[in-house]
Formats: sequence, C-alpha cells, structure tokens
Amino acid sequence: MARYTGSVCKLCRREGEKLFLKGARCYTEKCGIERRPYPPGVHGQKRQKRSDYAIQLREKQKLKRLYGVQEKQMRNTFDKATHMKGITGHNLMALLERRLDNVIYRAGFAASRKEARQLVKHGHFFLNGHKASIPSMLISKGDVIEVKEASRSSAKLAGSLEANSIREVPAWIELDKANLKGTIRDLPKREDITATVEERLVVELYSK
Ligand code: SF4
Repeated sequence: MARYTGSVCKLCRREGEKLFLKGARCYTEKCGIERRPYPPGVHGQKRQKRSDYAIQLREKQKLKRLYGVQEKQMRNTFDKATHMKGITGHNLMALLERRLDNVIYRAGFAASRKEARQLVKHGHFFLNGHKASIPSMLISKGDVIEVKEASRSSAKLAGSLEANSIREVPAWIELDKANLKGTIRDLPKREDITATVEERLVVELYSK
C-alpha cells in the first residue's frame, strides 16, 4: 500500500491524541489536535458507538501511525513478536522501539520519526562504524549510532539536538551530544516506552 501523503495532523485527530508526527510544531499551540480536538470529516463531532473490532482496529492504526510503519511491516513485526519469549504485546512494542529510525528520533537527532527515516535513507548515519541506510534495521545492546562526519554540518542536523532537547532521551540510550553519538545501553523494555497504546488490543486483532 502507498505511503500516506495527506495531513498528518488528521491522523492524530482520528486517533484522538497527539502522536507527535510533526516535530517542533507538536509542542506549540499550532498543534492540530489543540485547535480541533475532534476527528476529521463532516461527522467528526458526532458521538459514535464503536464495536470491539473497531476499538482494536483503531489501536492498531494508532501504533502503525506512531511508528510510521506500513501494514505489511507491522504484520511481520507481530509475527516476529509471537515467536519470541515473553508477552507478545510487550515484544511487539519493544521491536518497534528498536527500529533504527525510532532510535535516532529518541536520541534527538531528528524532530520526528519521519524526519529520522529520511535522514537514515539519505545515509547520514553510521551504525557500529558502517553506513546504515535501512530505517527498519533493529538495534542491539552495545550498538553505536553516530552522525556521519560529512553530515555534521548539514543544516538539518546542525543544532537539531538543541531544538529537540524538549524531549527527554530515554535511559536506554547514552547520548554523547558533543560527538553526535548514541550508544545503546540496554534494549528497551515495555516500561521504557511511554506511548499510550494498549498493545493487548493489537494482539487480539491480529490473533483473530
Ligand atoms: Fe499531531 Fe503534531 Fe499535528 Fe499536533 S502538530 S496534531 S501532535 S502531528
């Protein structure tokens, strides 16, 4: 399926909460959901009764939109989570959190996951000393992510850490601001992920 190219604020409004898809704007009063806190469309302000299926579907859509993944990637990630030890929902969240684009966003190298994906695709990062240009790559404990020497002066990256300092870098990433480098201290666990997603509903939906 093609990638969504419409207004991203509509995605937040559809899910009824901030998904932080637009970077700095999300923290201002210009935020779409602050201005219009109801779903988009002509029936947006009507109260609607939702079936169990609709609730599960919305939760899955929210998770996909939050991490910017396509349906096929999401399904593959879920399949992988079911084959891991532990709680499937927690595994699913941890796998999404370990994506390279997400780690770059979490470390503050990009204003949004979308921007992080773009920067990775354009080859601005090294993972353990090798060029990393696949946003869906999964990071492991001890991995080192750094901005490529030649990219350090790029307009987008220059000062991005300052602009993104509004967000807290999670404890599982050790950030070396001066050298634009991040080290994975530990793999993220469910309790490290602040997203307000009920992953249990996503598991129920995919298990049907
Ligand atoms: Fe969502 Fe950000 Fe748009 Fe607000 S500004 S609605 S958080 S994408």
